[in-house]
Amino acid sequence: MTAAMEHSDVTPSFFYDFGIVREKVAMLRGALPAGVGIHYAMKANPLPAMVSAMVALVDGIDVASGGELAVALKAGAVHISFAGPGKRDAELESAIRAGSTINLESETEATRALSIAERLGMTPRLAVRVNPDFALKGSGMKMGGGAAPFGVDAERVPALVKRLIATGADWRGFHIFAGSQALDSGAIADTQAATVALAGKLAQEVGATPPLVNLGGGFGIPYFAGEQPIDVAMIGERLGGVLENRDSILKDSKFAIELGRWLVGECGIYLTRVVDRKESRGEIFLVTDGGLHHQLAASGNFGTVVRRNYPIAVANRFGFDVEETVSVVGCLCTPLDRLGDQVGLPRADVGDVIAVFMAGAYGASASPASFLGHSPAREVLTKV
Ligand SMILES: *Cc1c(COP(=O)(O)O)cnc(C)c1O
Repeated sequence: MTAAMEHSDVTPSFFYDFGIVREKVAMLRGALPAGVGIHYAMKANPLPAMVSAMVALVDGIDVASGGELAVALKAGAVHISFAGPGKRDAELESAIRAGSTINLESETEATRALSIAERLGMTPRLAVRVNPDFALKGSGMKMGGGAAPFGVDAERVPALVKRLIATGADWRGFHIFAGSQALDSGAIADTQAATVALAGKLAQEVGATPPLVNLGGGFGIPYFAGEQPIDVAMIGERLGGVLENRDSILKDSKFAIELGRWLVGECGIYLTRVVDRKESRGEIFLVTDGGLHHQLAASGNFGTVVRRNYPIAVANRFGFDVEETVSVVGCLCTPLDRLGDQVGLPRADVGDVIAVFMAGAYGASASPASFLGHSPAREVLTKV
């Protein structure tokens, strides 16, 4: 236990180790075919220090709101793309003024973006987000294959792109995102192959080469016992083959993948301190100073059907033998607030610190921080 950890205001907090992010990016660059860019989807972890560090490491930042756009610009990002349904006029205007690429989600959004650009006297950078006619198999969150609030249905994309080109917009290409949190490497590779094929088909129908094809992401990370990391070497190798055989109309296109969770999920831990140790009808509860208002995902209430335990430990007894089965709960007045359900841990008492791993993505910013009015968790980025 370090001196810092004994200090009581160190919890509740998130610690993110950027050294781990750097290793993952290096591993991915080694696996991907030369020239395939890596974008960071910053909604996974929008901490300004994280975004600043990412700007220096990756090839683009993907934002999903005007607020994220402002953080990315402040972090010095130059290559920014803006996807997401429901972009307001003020958000479109900020993106056009900043020279960011807008990934259009509908024909009506295209009309608004074009008229805002005309009013500003600027040439907008516009790409079209495609709602593909396939989904990423085994994905935790499917985002293609049927009717969707995201993207323009593939069959309607060529007409829209022709219209963008005809009005003199700077058409930047296609954005095709088919799913999230997939652990099936074969399915990810199949989806990338289908995505490159779809981009080629759409480009043929348009009769123009897309400057950039954003292949989406969907790379998952193992959260639970028995899950395995994806095989990026295999995915990269298969993508290499797909790109070698791509439609000639894509010969001069650039390609990129966009990832959030895979880049940052494993770099974070959430630390919370035991405030009370109580027994109820034969079960032991460790009641902590944190909970689902900081780390909703670990409580099983963020897009999961069956609640399973995230990896959890007593941080100041790391490596000690398991001595008892306990439930680790937060300080909120709801039975949903459970960080660990019936987990085997070394004995922990009041003042000890619980670590919940895999807390780098969709943690602090994806949790209902205002619920019950407790203070937010501190967030610290290290080894930048
Ligand atoms: C959320 C999102 C991502 C990131 O997804 P991860 O599963 O975190 O990698 C990428 N692209 C778009 C368009 C998104 O909305």
